[in-house]
Amino acid sequence: MNTENFTRSVLDWYDSGHRDLPWRHTKDPYRIWISEIMLQQTRAETVVSYYERFLKRFGTVEALANAPEEELLKSWEGLGYYTRARSLQKAARMLVRDYGGQLPADLDSLLALPGIGRYTAGAIASIAFGIPAAAVDGNVERVLCRYDAITDIVGTPAVRKRIEERAQQLVPTDRPGAFANAMMEMGATLCTPKSPKCLLCPVLDSCRGHALGIAQDLPVKPKKKAQRIEKRAVLLCLCDARVLVVRREEKLLGGLYVFPDVLEQDDPAALCAHMAQAGVQTAYDEHLGSARHVFTHIIWEMEIHLLLATACAPVENGMWVTREELAALPMPTAVKAARQWAMRRLKTT
Ligand code: SF4
Repeated sequence: MNTENFTRSVLDWYDSGHRDLPWRHTKDPYRIWISEIMLQQTRAETVVSYYERFLKRFGTVEALANAPEEELLKSWEGLGYYTRARSLQKAARMLVRDYGGQLPADLDSLLALPGIGRYTAGAIASIAFGIPAAAVDGNVERVLCRYDAITDIVGTPAVRKRIEERAQQLVPTDRPGAFANAMMEMGATLCTPKSPKCLLCPVLDSCRGHALGIAQDLPVKPKKKAQRIEKRAVLLCLCDARVLVVRREEKLLGGLYVFPDVLEQDDPAALCAHMAQAGVQTAYDEHLGSARHVFTHIIWEMEIHLLLATACAPVENGMWVTREELAALPMPTAVKAARQWAMRRLKTT
């Protein structure tokens, strides 16, 4: 199948029916940008409700640029990879300052914005501005690796270049945005990581990976690094119907609120000593439960403990919050179980 046939077959397949996703009803660059950032590392079905809520609250580049950080992070709560939200705001501020609050209609200027890499720039350029630019995400990479039977390990500069060049050859000048969506749709619904539905595929006849019987084994990914396990004691310190939260300063989950925690420690006396060092006198009450959260490179294995403080003493980066205030704070999914315990305990105090 030549390039043009591939492109037409994929477009015809897309035109004959695809998932109805809200960002496919618009060409507004701001909306396309928000959807593409949310879709990084997150399934489309999950993104839908976040996308709509986010745009209701931050309907313009200006609104996003001026949003208080806590409110922005709260709207991102549960989506994870919070750097995306912070980069969005940085980019929005640059857009207000340098482009009158509009997204620029060229690839290089898009690429210069924080949080926008080659894929996102290609997606915005093609979908919002009709520029014939390729947008290679994991879905498209998988389709092309299988179609061309690329057996080299993906992720190296050479293979990335090869796939991007191939993708660029396929982009039609008349409907680049529809083609970008069609390729992503193929990767998400037909050419799926496990058990691709080849019999329904519009390019089955010319797919080399399928012909060779190796489609399912492609792309060949580099070996993943083993995830590091961190054992954390999460401390719910209660005092006068309030619980202590601290704002994380670390890169991972920076700007979000968590409960105080201690690494590799679960002795009650040591936990109280840790809080005393932070300036809060406590008495150990009980072990509440366990939780686990898997990040890309780390796994948190958490034991949740209840401590009763004698006074709401001030703590660096900390706040003593009521049940209502706790519900309104941006907190990561990693501490969801601990937050639920805190909500329950604050209800009964
Ligand atoms: S034939 Fe199968 S492996 Fe090849 S592109 Fe289509 S779905 Fe993917």
